[in-house]
Amino acid sequence: MELTNTPICRLCGRGPLRARLSFSGAAGSLTGEFRLVSCDNCGTWQVNPHPGPKLAQSYFNRPELWAKTLDPEGRPVSLLERSQGRAQEYRIYAQAMTPFLPERGLLLDIGAGTGLMLSLLPDNRPKLAVEPNPVAAEAARERGLEVSREWAENLTFPKVPIGAIILNQTLDHLPRPDLFLSRALSWLSPGGLTLITGLINPLSLPARVYGPRHRLWSPWHQIYPPLAAVTGLLKAQGLEILEVWRPYFVTPFGGPWNLTRASLKILATLIRRPRPGAVSPPWPGNVYSLLARKNLLLQPLKVPSPQAAPLASQY
Ligand SMILES: [Zn+2]
Repeated sequence: MELTNTPICRLCGRGPLRARLSFSGAAGSLTGEFRLVSCDNCGTWQVNPHPGPKLAQSYFNRPELWAKTLDPEGRPVSLLERSQGRAQEYRIYAQAMTPFLPERGLLLDIGAGTGLMLSLLPDNRPKLAVEPNPVAAEAARERGLEVSREWAENLTFPKVPIGAIILNQTLDHLPRPDLFLSRALSWLSPGGLTLITGLINPLSLPARVYGPRHRLWSPWHQIYPPLAAVTGLLKAQGLEILEVWRPYFVTPFGGPWNLTRASLKILATLIRRPRPGAVSPPWPGNVYSLLARKNLLLQPLKVPSPQAAPLASQY
């Protein structure tokens, strides 16, 4: 498959990029092999060369992605069944968002999956689930949600007031998260919220201990931004950070028993006795989520076109 080489950082628009890890024939990969580089400016690790929109869309559009896929240990899982297991985590996000939601404006979930997150928000505002995958989109429709099967990079919202943009495990799957985020934040009404979840911390303990065998490296996780890179970028675009989470105990992978087992596993790896082929365990701080609010005084930015709005030009 053909990959795209982007010479600048796909979060901050700068660089330079430094080679970190390379992989070949990774399980579940349509790209066969991929490399990770990191940005000297903001510290974001990223896949480069990387899947472009065409390749990413063919991967995420497959019906079997939601019906049957492989987890990092190579076991088959159903994302449709697993998504319900995230309800406890999503409820925490919904409870944090609800008191801050503007009185008006569309609640927009981009990469909405089965629509679970959107369904937990108040019903007294219009909602739109953007979900291209046919199986996930059907599940969202069955919840009674309005669904658009458009791809994130093709979306436009010229005049609709938008009260919240949810990027629930979405941003790091996009080929150009930098371009997309600067456009999406420009749609947000003053006082509007953005919830960004599931970002992978490249500096977590398991990432450092396991190196190339960290469970979350994948050509389909396109960027791995440290928290400071994301908060800095959001603040530069006129947003204030309301809350940051490191979800673990509320996820299907967490809990005291799993934490004990994971601690022993990491300890064994540190003293160089890992099981052959073992990947890093789920761990608090592997991923993080954040809620931010657009400054009430800011008017939506006028962005002429997606390609004409690289992030660096807005610094
Ligand atoms: Zn960067």
